[in-house]
Amino acid sequence: MSLGTSENNYELVSGLEIHVQLNTNTKIFSADSASFGALPNQNISTVSLALPGALPKLNKEVVAKAIRIGLALNCTINQINHFDRKNYFYADLPKGYQITQDNQPICINGFLEVELADGSAKRIGINRIHLEEDAGKSIHDQDDNYSLVDLNRAGVPLIEIVTEPDIRSAEEASALLAEIRKLVRHLNVSDGNMEEGSLRCDANISIRPMGSTEFGTRCEVKNLNSMRNVRRAMDFEFGRQVDVISNGGRIIQSTLNFDADKGTTSPMRTKEEANDYRYFADPDLQPVFISNDWLTEIKAAMPALPNEISKKMMSEFGISKADAALFAEDLELLNYFNQALPIVNTKKTLINWLIGPIRAVLSEKSISISEYNVKPEQLAIAINLVDNKKITQKIAIQQLLPAVEKHENVDVAGLAQSLNLIISENGDELDRFVDEVLSKYPQQVEAYKKGKKGVLGLFVGDVMKLAKGKADAKRLNDLILEKLK
Ligand code: ADP
Ligand code: MG
Repeated sequence: MSLGTSENNYELVSGLEIHVQLNTNTKIFSADSASFGALPNQNISTVSLALPGALPKLNKEVVAKAIRIGLALNCTINQINHFDRKNYFYADLPKGYQITQDNQPICINGFLEVELADGSAKRIGINRIHLEEDAGKSIHDQDDNYSLVDLNRAGVPLIEIVTEPDIRSAEEASALLAEIRKLVRHLNVSDGNMEEGSLRCDANISIRPMGSTEFGTRCEVKNLNSMRNVRRAMDFEFGRQVDVISNGGRIIQSTLNFDADKGTTSPMRTKEEANDYRYFADPDLQPVFISNDWLTEIKAAMPALPNEISKKMMSEFGISKADAALFAEDLELLNYFNQALPIVNTKKTLINWLIGPIRAVLSEKSISISEYNVKPEQLAIAINLVDNKKITQKIAIQQLLPAVEKHENVDVAGLAQSLNLIISENGDELDRFVDEVLSKYPQQVEAYKKGKKGVLGLFVGDVMKLAKGKADAKRLNDLILEKLK
């Protein structure tokens, strides 16, 4: 096969190393706070400072969270695993080594299925997930003469998810990242915030002639902190490697930086070998033993995963994929829904309210459903009032629910009564209103009879005004039509 120079003759091959900062209260090996945004060097103790003799102690919650994400990614959990020291010198790494996992990571051999824009599914293998601590932060731009070191981040728990080189396009890479972000949030493992660095990734990228089954030499682009930059870095790097190879050059395995302003990659260092780090098992920490009982307990406590929830909602309630995703990706909404469900007359109506008017109210207030002062049981009762034609939907949304919000634990039906929102069952009154309106508009009534059906809206609107909105629109409509005959 002769190699053309066009990008069409090459295939991109990529594997990602995704770092996820776990949202535990404390650090991985000490009781120091792991929170973000404290003043420099507030969240430190002897362990974070690496004072001589200070010993690390493993945070159990970190292990539990790693297991949860491992299970969601279909991994085998290594019930015996251990920590290693990765030795290197850096000013913000006072121990002179990072505690990580090398050859016995906590999770191995998983996969994740992602959906692409054309509707097809792509399975991407997960090689391993390992636990490690973050390093501190060097600050070079606050003092003219010195670099400053902030150790708040030193020891904050991370997991690194390493995929197999199964990724074949920038689209697949960003779909994978989006799916992982969704999962870590869903499982309450991490806030998944890419802007704040809770989720960042290194992309290993190589190319090979289309149709080839061998892998080319890869370059690793470091620290991509947004979905967009992952795509840009991949597109750029793919083009660069095609250029090099089609001009007779060869790719040198190396570590690259991505310049987000220019959209280009540039060499950072040639790739170090694993043995440069002199990995060895950390003698300060015992191996981790995960008992069958504990693993069973964690499995039992796992919530249904977003895709499962989506499928169930679609088949059970016949709603669209996009609507189902609203529930699958928002556990609070799903909880709220499940609490209201046993009370409503019709389930589908509840769904329509939640994805329609209630969502609009929440977005107007910029709050999440858990901050909404109408309890699921209360909303269900309001919906039933509308369903039973006791109040109109408009009045429920514009008057009743706002009033419910202001009174904690209020009896919704009673409140509708006392606010005088119940639809008038007084047929005579409505009858009178219709007569009044029709006699007000003799010309329009004439026009209607000659076929100008559009004026009906005018009559309905006016009668509704007289009834102060407390009329069932359908009934009102029928009544007017009757009179116009
Ligand atoms: P190392 O131990 O040197 O970091 P790994 O074998 O652990 O290397 O792989 C690191 C990452 O690089 C993985 O995500 C893997 O999928 C990816 N990778 C490996 N070979 C290639 C290749 N030829 N092209 C693109 N990505 C690759
Ligand atoms: Mg690596």
